[in-house]
Amino acid sequence: MTTPETVLPDSLTVSPVPLDAAPAPAEAPEPAARWEVRRSDHPRSPEHRASLLRELRFGTEFTDHLAHAVWTPEEGWHDLRVEAYGPITLDPGSAVLHYAQEIFEGLKAYRHVDGSIWAFRPEANARRFAQSARRLALPLLPEEDFLGSLEALVRIDRDWVPGGEGTSLYLRPFMFASERFLGVRPARFVDYMVIASPVGPYFTHGFTPVSIWVAEDFHRAGPGGTGAAKCGGNYAASLLPQQIAYEHDCAQVCFLDAATGTLVEELGGMNVFVVASDGSVSTPELTGTILEGVTRASIIQLLADQGREVAERSITLAEIKDGIASGAITEVFACGTAAVITPIGRLKGEGFDLEVADGAPGETTRVLHKTLTDIQYGHAPDPHGWLRRLA
Ligand SMILES: *Cc1c(COP(=O)(O)O)cnc(C)c1O
Repeated sequence: MTTPETVLPDSLTVSPVPLDAAPAPAEAPEPAARWEVRRSDHPRSPEHRASLLRELRFGTEFTDHLAHAVWTPEEGWHDLRVEAYGPITLDPGSAVLHYAQEIFEGLKAYRHVDGSIWAFRPEANARRFAQSARRLALPLLPEEDFLGSLEALVRIDRDWVPGGEGTSLYLRPFMFASERFLGVRPARFVDYMVIASPVGPYFTHGFTPVSIWVAEDFHRAGPGGTGAAKCGGNYAASLLPQQIAYEHDCAQVCFLDAATGTLVEELGGMNVFVVASDGSVSTPELTGTILEGVTRASIIQLLADQGREVAERSITLAEIKDGIASGAITEVFACGTAAVITPIGRLKGEGFDLEVADGAPGETTRVLHKTLTDIQYGHAPDPHGWLRRLA
């Protein structure tokens, strides 16, 4: 009997490939060719699509198609296809509904002025997806199939990629245990899908500072847990503290490490950076309980390009509170694919409420936001070869 484990990449158990390692050379010239296209017989009309693209929000509308493949231990990945977007049939006994054996990714496709469409560092997402799969005992999806699914879907739905300022097509690859079985073991039927959503800015107020609530009673990840994997379960655990943050008029939660409760780790879905008055920049080091963001890695590289070394180190909540109060810390920002770079204007928690500098976005935050988005939208050169053409 072949078990799912036999297809998992052993190397990932020892030393995960750093997300910012040089991209592997594409093996097949056309990764999309492995995906059979079955066109929808009910695509939205151009007028309907145009009306949806005029009023973009985050993650509420989806394109006409999705990519889908299935896996069994006997056959591996098979039936790779792009087909009409629509509801799926899932047996009530499917393992994912009971034990949350699920992982996902999030990345964006950007329309450039010449009409071409580009993804930002999708190879890094492919590698992280493999690392998440390993942690959740799901099968490995080869990098070229991950990339091919994005290309095949974006090519057929290219008219859904919006062209306005701050807009993009958000791509959501995900994998889940679809086997009908209530025993606890890795599933032997697994589905992989990609859905795509035309999006505007994640935070409705755009590039304006947000308030953050520091959760001291709840943690999103612990040592040896799934914090470094991108899995739905981590998000489920963050929802109650997120709700408490809303009750304190905060947009997001900041989590502390579970072991000591003193170190700042990250937000529910974004990494954090701190800028000091002497210009030095720090971000929490990757300890296994923090998700390694592609945006985080890119910001570290962009600052290095300017000769500014980012200190990846442990940062205590006390240091940040004291620094904001004394003025030694002048900027705090969060980063992730969905919201790109978001200034943090206020840090609140049980017994404290601190405004960062004068609450306005700082210079380092603004320059990084512009540098990164200019590369993504093709307004500036791409010195590190981060963009990959999809269509
Ligand atoms: C996805 C995610 C991030 C940001 O990662 P990016 O690759 O930059 O989008 C940060 N933290 C968590 C918990 C995440 O799930």
